[in-house]
Amino acid sequence: MQFNKQFMSVLLGAALTLPNLAQAAAAVDTERLINADQEPGNWLAHGRDYTEQRFSPLKQINKQTVADLGLSWSYGFDSTRGLEATPLVIDGTMYVTGSWNVVYAFDAVTGELKWRFDPKIDRGAVGPKLCCDAVNRGVAAWQGKLYTGTLDGRLIALDAETGQPLWSTQTTDNDQYYSITGAPRIVKGKVMIGNGGAEFGVRGYFSAYDADSGKMLWRFYTVPDDPAKETNPVLIEASKTWAGEWWKLGGGGTAWDSMAYDPELDLLYVGIGNGSPWNREIRSNGEGDNLFLSSIVAVRPDTGEYVWHYQTTPGEEWDYTATQHMILADLEVDGNPRKVLMQAPKNGFFYVLDRVTGEFISGENYVAVNWADGIDPTTGRPNIKPEAHYSSAGKPFLAQPSPFGGHNWQPMSFNPNTGLVYFPTREMAFPYIADEQYQVKSMTVNLGVSLLGASLPEDPAVRKAVKAATKGRLVAWDPVAQKEAWGVDMPVPWNGGTLSTAGGLVFQGNGQGRLVAYDAASGEPLWSYHGQTGMVAPPISYSVNGEQYIAIMAGWGGAVPLVVGPLVSEALTTNTNRLLVFKLGGKATLPELKVTAKALNPPSATATAETVAEGKAVYHIYCSSCHGDSAVSGGVLPDLRYASQHSFDYWEDIVVNGLKKGNGMAAFGSVLSVEQADAIKAYVIKRANDELAAQKAKQ
Ligand code: CA
Repeated sequence: MQFNKQFMSVLLGAALTLPNLAQAAAAVDTERLINADQEPGNWLAHGRDYTEQRFSPLKQINKQTVADLGLSWSYGFDSTRGLEATPLVIDGTMYVTGSWNVVYAFDAVTGELKWRFDPKIDRGAVGPKLCCDAVNRGVAAWQGKLYTGTLDGRLIALDAETGQPLWSTQTTDNDQYYSITGAPRIVKGKVMIGNGGAEFGVRGYFSAYDADSGKMLWRFYTVPDDPAKETNPVLIEASKTWAGEWWKLGGGGTAWDSMAYDPELDLLYVGIGNGSPWNREIRSNGEGDNLFLSSIVAVRPDTGEYVWHYQTTPGEEWDYTATQHMILADLEVDGNPRKVLMQAPKNGFFYVLDRVTGEFISGENYVAVNWADGIDPTTGRPNIKPEAHYSSAGKPFLAQPSPFGGHNWQPMSFNPNTGLVYFPTREMAFPYIADEQYQVKSMTVNLGVSLLGASLPEDPAVRKAVKAATKGRLVAWDPVAQKEAWGVDMPVPWNGGTLSTAGGLVFQGNGQGRLVAYDAASGEPLWSYHGQTGMVAPPISYSVNGEQYIAIMAGWGGAVPLVVGPLVSEALTTNTNRLLVFKLGGKATLPELKVTAKALNPPSATATAETVAEGKAVYHIYCSSCHGDSAVSGGVLPDLRYASQHSFDYWEDIVVNGLKKGNGMAAFGSVLSVEQADAIKAYVIKRANDELAAQKAKQ
């Protein structure tokens, strides 16, 4: 009887709990993440699984069938800021983040919105802390919860079923210019998250939080503190690679995007960002490698204990972050099987490292590189040209790649069948000119590099030449041979991350507004769809009830469109933000694209040349990194030349007092006088009249 009672209660318990478990939303755990290939229909984590290969085993959509791919459903977002997120799809539900950290859950088949969570960012306060748009790259899922990092530095856990917040932890000091744009990763019940801000004088770190409680478990600083205070032996050792009083300036080294995990080796890999300020003379007396800037660091996920590092750019001062996406794969190199880690960081070299030890295996440039003469195969160090160190060489250096990188955050994908890695690249140069009047400023980037000096000349002929030398490309890279297998040129130098599939396809959204499927072996375009907006986010694939889908967050934004608008004039910058989902035979349509020509009707330019010059100088300190070099926008934020008469009338209220802070346009009254704001206005009006004259000359 006793036995029966127990047996019954077990049975009853099973009957009561099992169906719930089976239906629990986002019930992701270690087993599922390690065995992700056994459930090819799901996209469980940021890079699909811990290897971050972004390779979908699905092949219903393949070279033969892709011509029949059509829109299944779409969802329109109410923001015009950038979309960079990778959607997760878990057991029929899709989870995505839009601009300003809003999280959405959709029925992955019908597109029905299940819930929406808005963490209500104070946009006016956060706006000046963002180098590169109000973006987020996605959520992480773990045992019924979703995790999202916010632009104001919170890490928030949500109930995956309802979208209700369960806990929220502040991971940054809000008095400093930190922000989170990256997706969390989850290892053994710990949520790993870093942050950004290395353009603003912060000290980088990444941390682990308990997934259930939100309690911080450990933190790894990427830059040593003042040696008089530093207690961590690893950072005491690292401090020998620094000079001067770097800790007073932050030092940089933010871990703002890439991570990967090898469960067999139990190593978590984290990509580390650039120095702060950029200029090494100011940051570190022009000396030293400055560990762990621009490095890949391997740590134990349980404790944060340091295991190894590889520094891609010793002594970096070009914003050459190593935060770009990392892929783990097993490759045969010189006849030997190697467990490798691959990265194409901003500095222009494609790296293959031994992920057990961090040993350099190989590295070749994937775009034109002029700051180094290759990499020493024995030491793994780049042969940096002395003149590239503009801060100590005493003269400017026109570098390739630019601070936007030969490749940036846009994720790569790896197809084990072709053995190729697919990623978007950029040929672009940038003049690094040391800022001789450097002083730490609020509400703007602090680089130690003159953005006024680096701004494009107003001469249209020079601008045309610079633009002609700036190109985008989709590259299929052979990591064993370290050379390009094929490539496709793109007129816009800012394009999307990639998805590889077992159907032999590579999918990529591009700056001209097309989602394209390429033959993974040859690069031949097999299908494309006009998504009505430039795209930068990476696509994913999933299946529900035996039907395969392709999904992409379609929206224009990020660093290049914000800063160098003149170089993306071929992009589709209307920014109609949508989630687009495709399937074979999909027949859904988008509403007709309405593009209204912008009216250029500026007040007449009456200010003195002196005032305009002052306005230009101040504009390139406080305004250009969002509204664009030389007052030419790349389509995300308003092109000020086209401002309405109303905006010119209320200029002071907007710029000084924050009339439009709800859009992320902060009040700059603490750093700009009314006279300076008026000088900026005079410069913008002058640039608007330049454009008006150019347009009239063409007619
Ligand atoms: Ca940076």
